[in-house]
Amino acid sequence: MDKKEQFYQRLEQRGVSRRDFMRYCTFLTATMGLSASFVPKVAEVFAAPKQRPPVIWLNFGECTGCTEAMLRTVYPYADELVLEILSVEYHETIMAAAGHQAEEQLQAALKKHSGKFICVAEGAIPTKYNGGYGRIGGRTFLEIAQEVIPQAAATICIGTCASFGGIQAAKPNPGGYMGVGQALKMKTINIPGCPPNPVNLVGTIVNYLLLGKLPAVDDMGRPLFAYGKTIHDQCPRRSHFENEEFVEEFGSKEAALGYCLYKMGCRGPETYNNCPVAKFNDGTSWPVEAGHPCIGCSEPDFWDKMTPFYKEF
Ligand code: SF4
Repeated sequence: MDKKEQFYQRLEQRGVSRRDFMRYCTFLTATMGLSASFVPKVAEVFAAPKQRPPVIWLNFGECTGCTEAMLRTVYPYADELVLEILSVEYHETIMAAAGHQAEEQLQAALKKHSGKFICVAEGAIPTKYNGGYGRIGGRTFLEIAQEVIPQAAATICIGTCASFGGIQAAKPNPGGYMGVGQALKMKTINIPGCPPNPVNLVGTIVNYLLLGKLPAVDDMGRPLFAYGKTIHDQCPRRSHFENEEFVEEFGSKEAALGYCLYKMGCRGPETYNNCPVAKFNDGTSWPVEAGHPCIGCSEPDFWDKMTPFYKEF
């Protein structure tokens, strides 16, 4: 049985049909902004990967929500798919090793894959007091990041905390928390969101494996395929905004009619993300569709700039 057949057999053992898998690949291809002719090639990346790049996944100041979003995605197999195409060498949350054994694993991975691995960073880095606000195994997050990230072929920051600092960097920010790129003064690919949509991480990695390069990004390092337009520009409630049909109270008749949430504090006009098209939970819904205003969670400094929530700007 060839590699591809083995892959489909593994999926079927998990209760995932080829049809489900192809549906996911079609969705992923569209999210990446590629034409439908790329669907078989995207499927090939998973079914018969030519390479499995090593990944070192670092956790800094965060809640682990980004890892949870990735692993507990409703596509029951999206996490498995990621593990099919990547060789995850170090990930504190899911690895079996702990303590000194885990630290040794990190050093061994660095020695073996220096210059060739992808680093996925989750969480913000404290920079004041020599980085003293966050430590793992006696070393500060800052020291770990300074050792690992410059050796990576590319660094992908997953979530708003790693991308821009997130809630850790909100005022008064005594620890001097920053996004990873800002703390290290270097460029990173940023996939913000609290949590980010897992499909945007998968799309970034598949883009790298399929086209041999990371996707085009904006001036904040965000992939344009996912963060090129505002929520407002893609929102299904937009016609209500144009017609000045607004919700002014939760539970009202206007809310039931699906009117625009701008007066309830929606930050969709200021927020760049693909939530209206990618949605969450197997494409089931997203906050505005569920009747909740966008809080701008994928924008820099959103805790300071977008609050108080539920108040019109
Ligand atoms: S609900 Fe928000 S994103 Fe949608 S049209 Fe209204 S203001 Fe824009």
